[in-house]
Amino acid sequence: MKKFLKQEPVSSVGPKGHKHTIIRQFCKGCRICVEFCPTGTLDLDDRFKVKVAHPEKCIACRMCELRCPDMAIFVEKGSRDQGTKGSSGGAEKDKKRS
Ligand code: SF4
Ligand code: SF4
Repeated sequence: MKKFLKQEPVSSVGPKGHKHTIIRQFCKGCRICVEFCPTGTLDLDDRFKVKVAHPEKCIACRMCELRCPDMAIFVEKGSRDQGTKGSSGGAEKDKKRS
């Protein structure tokens, strides 16, 4: 695939270890990934190419990868993800005093 690319894909790893790979040459700046990202991780740069504006927000759901019509962005889930907050528990809070 590399022989079709004029530019090397750009990869970056966020604080949770999730890796984004962007093929800028394929990105047409349609913003589909930006709009479908549930956490506001992505944005477009001044050349209307996707960028990982807030890597700390990424939850590696891969929605951007799945929605991109041009296969310009790929996500690999990292191993440093601590999981999501707000899981079950905290039953102690619900105890009522009478
Ligand atoms: S959906 Fe794909 S082509 Fe559109 S802005 Fe995002 S990465 Fe670029
Ligand atoms: S993997 Fe999910 S959270 Fe991360 S940038 Fe893509 S759509 Fe947003």
